[in-house]
Amino acid sequence: MKIICIGQNYRAHIAELKHEVPQAPVFFFKPDTALLIRNRPFYLPEFSKEIHYETEVILRICKVGKYIPEKYADDFYDAVSLGFDFTARDLQRRCVEKGLPWEISKSFDQSAAIGRWIPKSELPSIDHLHFHLNLNGNKVQDGFTGDMLFGVPRLLSHVSQFMTLHIGDILFTGTPVGVGPVKIGDRLEAFLEEASVLRCEIK
Ligand code: MG
Repeated sequence: MKIICIGQNYRAHIAELKHEVPQAPVFFFKPDTALLIRNRPFYLPEFSKEIHYETEVILRICKVGKYIPEKYADDFYDAVSLGFDFTARDLQRRCVEKGLPWEISKSFDQSAAIGRWIPKSELPSIDHLHFHLNLNGNKVQDGFTGDMLFGVPRLLSHVSQFMTLHIGDILFTGTPVGVGPVKIGDRLEAFLEEASVLRCEIK
């Protein structure tokens, strides 16, 4: 399986990182070794001094897809949840400055925490989902999928032009504004439509 991650998909987040607004969806990958499941703790890696949380709506691909037309994109995922795209911001900044690939900052072990899957039939439509992150009980990210620069149909259509989507692949759809650093002892809890779907303690 592969984990496809969309970058720079919410305007206010693009502004907080001082990136340019992209003309087409930007994506990168995390390997299967990045998966962090069942609310397991995240252990701060020794290679970074600035690990950030990014809370994102994630989709589970349920059908093989290539050149997916936008109007049929909804048929290609069956469940939705939230994930943390853990990012070594200090390494990412260095990679971006030098124009280098940024995998070392994005694709390391445990960098893709995923929450419990909710069948999409039990949720409002994909472009009307509210979600938020509590850090130690305080709300620090508040997202609405209707604010995405590129909506889910466009994302699936775009990515599948370049690579075939397989059953079990996971799509991270990008983070809204409010990303920030984590430290040992922090507790993250993410809510999709007010339901707690993902928890993670930083160790
Ligand atoms: Mg992200």
